[in-house]
Amino acid sequence: MLFLLFLLSFLKSHSQLDYNITQWYNNKQSALSITFDDGYSSPFRQATDMLNSNNFKATFFIITNLIGHNSFANWTDVINNANQGHEIGSHTVNHYNLTDISPEECNYELSVSRDVINSKVKSPKCVSLSYPGVNIILM
Ligand SMILES: [Zn+2]
Repeated sequence: MLFLLFLLSFLKSHSQLDYNITQWYNNKQSALSITFDDGYSSPFRQATDMLNSNNFKATFFIITNLIGHNSFANWTDVINNANQGHEIGSHTVNHYNLTDISPEECNYELSVSRDVINSKVKSPKCVSLSYPGVNIILM
């Protein structure tokens, strides 16, 4: 949460840049994606208020089989966030590393998570995926 506070403060104080990198949608000066992986309840219940009060939207990538379990958000949290203009993206059904499963299982993980999200969240539709199971080992 501290990082999010810092990021939002930085963005507000640097909203008037005096150089142009490229053209963004509606000629905005820059673009940034704020994303949360896995669907834990704390981003849904704490970061959303912070984002809304600073006029920012984020993408919340959820693991559809874990929604409603233990420390994960529930569908009410997910639908509420979508209704407030945040994007709900897929982080697959079970969070498997997609390179460790068959093409059929991979298709299931991608298509079922998208379809479950779209059956619960009417708008905006699920169009984004955050690839699960990436572990970077630095030696
Ligand atoms: Zn993850």
